[in-house]
Amino acid sequence: MTSDCLFCRIVAGEVPADVVASTDRAVAFRDIDPRAPLHVLVVPREHHADVTRLAAADPTLLADLVELADRVAGTECDGQFRLVFNTGPTAGQSVLHVHGHVLGGARLGWSPA
Ligand code: C5P
Repeated sequence: MTSDCLFCRIVAGEVPADVVASTDRAVAFRDIDPRAPLHVLVVPREHHADVTRLAAADPTLLADLVELADRVAGTECDGQFRLVFNTGPTAGQSVLHVHGHVLGGARLGWSPA
């Protein structure tokens, strides 16, 4: 846990979040600023700055995030989803604790820029 990391604090229960699912290694909670009918973040309990570092350090944990995203989409919508890992500030990453945006519940456009 990194005490100045917002998502570490959510995982620890120190900052409130609408948790929809969890495992012993990961947590899924609703994004406070949803951009789709389903917009949930999947985060590892352990702190890793971004998806490239997580993949290098613990690829099994990255696979756990994908599995949790699939489970959430299967519960919350029709099981189809987009999984986005913004990586670096230029790409839109504002919280430096790896998180996958699980987006679904509607036909999604394709226009990130
Ligand atoms: O990819 P990025 O780092 O921009 O995503 C961070 C996400 O975390 C944002 O979509 C923001 O709405 C969400 N967030 C949240 N709960 C907070 C703070 C941020 O769901 N307390």
